[in-house]
Amino acid sequence: MKIPLLDLKRQYKNIRNEIEPAVISCMENGIYIGGRQVADFENAIAEYLGVRHAIGVGNGTDALVVALRAANIGSGDEVITTPFTFFASAESIAAVGAVPVFADICEDTFNIDPKSIEQKITPKTRAILPVHIFGCPAQMDEINAIAKKHNLLVIEDACQAIGAEYKGKKTGGIADMGCFSFFPTKNLGCFGDGGLITTNDDSLAMLCRAFREHGGGKNGAAARNILENKAKAVEAPADADPQYNPFKYYNYLIGYNTRLDAIQAAVLNVKLKHLDGWNQKRCENAAYYKKNIKNSKVKVPVLEGSFKHIYHQFALLTEDKEGLIHHLSGKGIAAGVFYPVPLHLQKALDYLGYKKGDLPVAEKITSQTVCLPIYPELTREELEYITEAVNEY
Ligand SMILES: *Cc1c(COP(=O)(O)O)cnc(C)c1O
Repeated sequence: MKIPLLDLKRQYKNIRNEIEPAVISCMENGIYIGGRQVADFENAIAEYLGVRHAIGVGNGTDALVVALRAANIGSGDEVITTPFTFFASAESIAAVGAVPVFADICEDTFNIDPKSIEQKITPKTRAILPVHIFGCPAQMDEINAIAKKHNLLVIEDACQAIGAEYKGKKTGGIADMGCFSFFPTKNLGCFGDGGLITTNDDSLAMLCRAFREHGGGKNGAAARNILENKAKAVEAPADADPQYNPFKYYNYLIGYNTRLDAIQAAVLNVKLKHLDGWNQKRCENAAYYKKNIKNSKVKVPVLEGSFKHIYHQFALLTEDKEGLIHHLSGKGIAAGVFYPVPLHLQKALDYLGYKKGDLPVAEKITSQTVCLPIYPELTREELEYITEAVNEY
């Protein structure tokens, strides 16, 4: 049997009847950037996540960059994050000119450890950027409390956690801002790149809307006013005449070109309706593994608490990572190696001066995690086959 880590073609077959008309209608109506599909998606996802504002952008990395810019974080500032994540979590901090500062992680959830965060706070710290890694919510009460005490902003990297919940609240809506990615392999993925910023703060939302479109137009003017404390955020009125928009070529801030495409929004409008069902299937697959994997050389993390994990990845721990991956590969099973290098030891960040041994828990977890296929379309037969392969290792 051959089982890939993820099989997006299976998902497409199941929803093709809904996706194709939506994409075709988008191509026929001639509005490819912005328009109704994007507005509909932003409204639907804001309601799903329980937030006031949802702002579509070009990808998850840009969501982080724009969120940091909206928070006015840049040169001279420090942002505390986790080393056990995808590179973009720290890359975005460096990209706005700030310094990523790494705290260590918890052994059980692989998420940033609030106790370690406190030790890393300096007078330059401006924000905390927790990541809900693999779809498991970070300890947001503790993190928000630390932020409040030290007057810091909290930006959730929820790129792997769409639909996850922490004490009844959806991740991405628990702090000042949330960032999501619709990269095809995420639990909610589009047919290319896509991303989203969420916030309940009207001013931050206006700044994000301005930065995603060259700091221009009415949003740019309003954002400039906010930064100069001239006025509270005002909702920019829609342009009366879309053919003649004199505001568009007046720029007020240095921003980016990072928008969610209309076709991607059309795909996401269809897929959002299936998200809870898919996440539920992932949880059932995880429950099957947790119940049936029995091998003294393999540890299955418990991961229970007042949160809902959505299993973007299902990770095992083993002291012989290479051996297990090789064994599974021999059986036709593709295992995931997230993450082979903790970010504080990535070459691109060597200028920060970290060395091996600085963040022992992250380094240990990095050397031990092996991710199994967990996607919703896995069959019972495949789940049994994978479990058997792990058990006989
Ligand atoms: C995927 C991901 C990102 C980046 O998203 P892109 O859409 O690929 O730019 C950022 N952070 C985390 C934790 C991710 O998993």
